Amino acid sequence: MGAVEGPGPYDGRVDLETAAAELAERLPEPLAPLARVAYNYRWCWQPGGPEIFSAIDRERFELCQQNPVRLLSETSTRALHRAATELALLRQARRLAEQLDADLARPAQVPVGLAYPVGQHADLARSARPLDPHPSVQPPVDPAHPIAFLCAEYGVHVSLPVYSGGLGALAGDILKEASDRAIPMVAVGLMYRKGYFRQRIDAGGWQHEYWVDTDPQRLPAARVTGPDGKPVSITVPIYGRDVIAYIWRIDVGRVPLFLLDTDVSRNDPIDRWITARLYEADAHIRLAQYVLLGVGGIAALQALGIDPGVIHLNEGHAALAPLALAHSLAGNDHVSEQALQAARNRTVFTTHTPVPAGNDTYPAEQVREAIAQLALPVDRAIQLGRTRPDDPEEPFGVTQAALRVSRAANGVSRRHGEVSREMWAPVSRVDGLPAAPIGYVTNGVHVPTWIGRTMRELFDHYLGDDWTGRILDHEMWGAVREIPDEELWAARNAQRAEMVEFLRRRSTYDRLLRGDTREYVEAAAHAFDDGALTIGFARRVATYKRLELLTRDPDFILSLLAGDRPVQVVLAGKAHPRDEEAKHSLQRLFELKAVGAVGDRVIYLDDYDLATGAVLTQGCDVWLNIPRPPLEASGTSGMKAAVNGGLQLSVLDGWWAEGYDGDNGWAIPGEVDSDAEAQDHRDADTLHRLLLDEVVPCFYERDDRDIPLRWLEMVRASLISLAPRFSAARMLRDYVDGPYAGAVA
Ligand SMILES: *Cc1c(COP(=O)(O)O)cnc(C)c1O
Repeated sequence: MGAVEGPGPYDGRVDLETAAAELAERLPEPLAPLARVAYNYRWCWQPGGPEIFSAIDRERFELCQQNPVRLLSETSTRALHRAATELALLRQARRLAEQLDADLARPAQVPVGLAYPVGQHADLARSARPLDPHPSVQPPVDPAHPIAFLCAEYGVHVSLPVYSGGLGALAGDILKEASDRAIPMVAVGLMYRKGYFRQRIDAGGWQHEYWVDTDPQRLPAARVTGPDGKPVSITVPIYGRDVIAYIWRIDVGRVPLFLLDTDVSRNDPIDRWITARLYEADAHIRLAQYVLLGVGGIAALQALGIDPGVIHLNEGHAALAPLALAHSLAGNDHVSEQALQAARNRTVFTTHTPVPAGNDTYPAEQVREAIAQLALPVDRAIQLGRTRPDDPEEPFGVTQAALRVSRAANGVSRRHGEVSREMWAPVSRVDGLPAAPIGYVTNGVHVPTWIGRTMRELFDHYLGDDWTGRILDHEMWGAVREIPDEELWAARNAQRAEMVEFLRRRSTYDRLLRGDTREYVEAAAHAFDDGALTIGFARRVATYKRLELLTRDPDFILSLLAGDRPVQVVLAGKAHPRDEEAKHSLQRLFELKAVGAVGDRVIYLDDYDLATGAVLTQGCDVWLNIPRPPLEASGTSGMKAAVNGGLQLSVLDGWWAEGYDGDNGWAIPGEVDSDAEAQDHRDADTLHRLLLDEVVPCFYERDDRDIPLRWLEMVRASLISLAPRFSAARMLRDYVDGPYAGAVA
């Protein structure tokens, strides 16, 4: 550990600039501005960003997982030279580069609540004072003391495969929103060289997993180097060995994302594997990952010269970070209680899972072994991670630890806040360190990322060009009422048609790869209907998500698919590699494929990811979510559908319990029945009734222009009531006014 000597900052900024300059040199001169654009993920939510790279070489862009650095390095000279003669493209390239520069040059916004200690925060600042030489001139958060966001996964873009699902997508959305709002934030995570598993389903419906290598050199990333030009490294003793990690910097607009990488030749081969796979199944390695994320994360911030004003633990994986911070605040090997308090005063924690098994625990002995050589108070750390601190039988739980080392904690929806408070109520005070009170900040989605192009253009026209900057303005959304029926319906049809085209292409490929029958493969090419009611169900295949409610009554579903008011269904989602039960439920779904209309009315898309998630949430008419309550913490995919004018049909759990107002979608009751079987039965009935009596008639009831007026009224009600409230703009504001400001949400 320890800071880099010499004039700085050595935070990777220069390394990224150098990488972009090298790429620019390889391009025809008129395309040079695109190198800078390619090296900052800002392009992926900038209107015209994806389009410009696609215009250079559409096929190659897709082959490169939409990674613009790879595209510009790998596409043919011919394609580059052709692009360099297209005036409109060059104008657009200059415009994107200028917009990026202007965005980066904006002064940081430090909301009042973050700049001046108020309320409880004043007390917190006082208690931290003895460790802080200049407390009155050091505001809690400012550009020199940013919010440090720590998370095991980030879903920034499909080309950066260091995410698995909802947690990562949310983390990516928070970084993007912080960038848009110019909130000082930095993020820390791990550079998984093999990412998360990829999914292939065989002809028998069985899921297979495989991993794909990522070469960080070909990402829009740069390894941070110090004054001597050598990589900056940190060293963390884990399981008694010194593990070295390099730091990669990736820019997400104004927010730098630092990813730690142990694939370093000097490391023991086992340690090189620490940053191989996200959610590594081996508990020994997984614990090493979390030690690296927490302890190494703090060491990395120090090495980069960053002194965070707030540490945000997004999920419990980085729970050791505040202990490492306490150690550095103490300035010697003895971590005093006072130092622990001071670190706690800077830390906030978001819990994401109400499923007990989703909260990682490790045997105390394993934790002891992992962190013995760290200058941390090991017994104290283990105590903090137990619900009953002095029960020697109890393992170390990351959530318990995070609750005790944070000044505030939150669930991710109102209902999840309640569930979490109850779930963690037994986590009691250990001498001097109470468990943080648990409030809630409901999740939201980064609207510019998730909105489809057609809907965005419609909003540009009716809400004003600057509408993405005014997402929280409820009055602005009222203008949705002024969008003529024809235009709103045309936009919905266009987004659905775009999805259908994508699905035909992808599912033909998926079925060929599976070795499906010729007939079934061919069905994919003309599967789906541009104009038919399309229901989307894309989510992790876990038992509590109840995929099998869909197939409980195959006759009902088949009659729905084959009716004269046809319904089509697109499904996607991965089962955890070790979740046999979930894999079997997937297989049962595939058993239906030979039946009647299923081949061309149901598509299962392999390998759900951010890119397919975007296509589905932009194109589906109805977004279905049928979790067993109260196990859905929030859910965010439905919010993505909502901003695109899709309607929800969902259990009143997670975010929908606060989003549903009677007019903006459909609801299945969210009460908990202790008899799970009875609940499943009842909920399947409700689902069938809603589909048959309400959803289908509403969609197919048309006026003489063939427009479903009642449907569009619901779309408008949904947009107006949901888009501002479930945006990342609202979420970030809640974090800024609540946990970040020191207030307890
Ligand atoms: C948005 C998103 C999720 C989260 O979806 P849920 O509603 O929580 O199921 C998961 N995976 C991907 C790829 C996403 O884009």
